[in-house]
Amino acid sequence: MSLPLDNKLDNSYAALPPAFYTRLMPTPLPAPYLVAYSDDAAQLIGLDAAQAAAGLDVWIGNAVPQGATPLAAVYSGHQFGVWAGQLGDGRAILLGDIATPHGPMELQWKGAGQTPYSRMGDGRAVLRSSIREFLCSEAMAALGIPTSRALALAGSDQGVMRETVETAAVVVRMAPSFVRFGSFEHWYYRKQPEQLKILADYVLARFFPALQAEAQPYAALLREVTQRTARLMAQWQSVGFMHGVMNTDNMSILGLTLDYGPFGFMESFDPGHICNHTDQQGRYSYANQPQIGHWNCYALAQALMPLIDDVPLAQAALDSYQPTFAAEMDRLLHAKLGLSQIPEHADADRKLFDAMFEVMEANGADFTLFFRNLSQLQRDDAGAGSAVRDLFIDRAAFDGWTQQYRVRLQHEAASDTARSAAMNRVNPKYVLRNYLAQVAIEKAQNKDFSEIERLLSVLRHPYDEQPEHAAYAALPPDWASHLEVSCSS
Ligand code: AMP
Ligand code: MG
Repeated sequence: MSLPLDNKLDNSYAALPPAFYTRLMPTPLPAPYLVAYSDDAAQLIGLDAAQAAAGLDVWIGNAVPQGATPLAAVYSGHQFGVWAGQLGDGRAILLGDIATPHGPMELQWKGAGQTPYSRMGDGRAVLRSSIREFLCSEAMAALGIPTSRALALAGSDQGVMRETVETAAVVVRMAPSFVRFGSFEHWYYRKQPEQLKILADYVLARFFPALQAEAQPYAALLREVTQRTARLMAQWQSVGFMHGVMNTDNMSILGLTLDYGPFGFMESFDPGHICNHTDQQGRYSYANQPQIGHWNCYALAQALMPLIDDVPLAQAALDSYQPTFAAEMDRLLHAKLGLSQIPEHADADRKLFDAMFEVMEANGADFTLFFRNLSQLQRDDAGAGSAVRDLFIDRAAFDGWTQQYRVRLQHEAASDTARSAAMNRVNPKYVLRNYLAQVAIEKAQNKDFSEIERLLSVLRHPYDEQPEHAAYAALPPDWASHLEVSCSS
């Protein structure tokens, strides 16, 4: 019987020297079952819904498509600001890449068994964290934020030991490349500049061919990655996404959101919020993400120095981070508030944004609902927009801010209706709140996967009203305030 990916996979990474990876097969799991499948992701690689069940043995890692040369890649990284040495694909295995109209797409199993880079780990992923990665990858893509994708999620009842015994699952994830900042750091710290050059040339040729023509292609690479990272951070901030583990080994060289672990979406607004229970210092808090993104680019720059060999040039590339981030953040905030970027108003607008975040923080207003419901405000009718006002305990403080906002709206040509529609196209109504994921996880642990499917379909259209699914936009219930997410996955 032929399998969905038979004879369709190439593996460009396998053409790199053997020191970059170890070839190996996934370790089978007993009695697999399909938990979820993303039709949207499948379409990207030319598969359809009919392949979901047909591919089960491949998704779980019990069958390897014909012609595939699976491998685990080596990389290193800085974890929580400290050099951690060699890490690598400890539980991810690359199946290969598939040609698509938009360029090659790599497929990886996550949780398909041990590799030479597993260190003390078991090479497995649990159903709980796999559901979170699956749903959030697809939700972020639907929000329009660069991310790895999730094609399929398969489970097995084989026990996996974490804080308690859980069960195993495998996510088949996809991205044009899974190369990380840490892939470069690896060769820098090993003092092997020839390997570093091979990797940089591979990434340039495959993903940034236009930069090869520049006078200093490696500095151009650093500049491009720095700017992509800066824009990604602004996009995360703009929807209240918190990654939770922004170690350099989790930073994509393509500027994609990668390695979903203890991530979260901001609810009651608190800039110091830490979504990762293990991150006691709050290094990766919401407010710190932009500067950590910059720090990580410095780590990448350090690793590329043997190739760039020109400190001012590297510094110039890094210095483009702040203005890129600021410009993107400013653009996104204007869009979120339905304002156009008018140069004469730039300073006043910044003050308006600062005042907004201040009053949101003081009242712990729900991040997603605040921006979504703000679209109901009317320029000349102070009575409209009660849904957003209700998010504030201190109504007077909220009224004070909206008064400034309404004055600012006088300079906008758009009608209330047009502004509201435009705001709803950039302020999601539906995000993957922890409690929504938790409900789906608990049902799935009892073999009911319907909630995952429902959530996936709601989150596929985060900007649509979907009145029939309004419950999915609701504030978290009381029980959810005790939810804790840690690195354990
Ligand atoms: P993360 O914090 O999930 O990005 O993981 C950091 C490193 O630990 C990576 O090299 C992972 O491959 C590895 N790792 C995490 N969990 C496991 C596991 N259960 N088994 C093997 N390696 C793991
Ligand atoms: Mg990782």
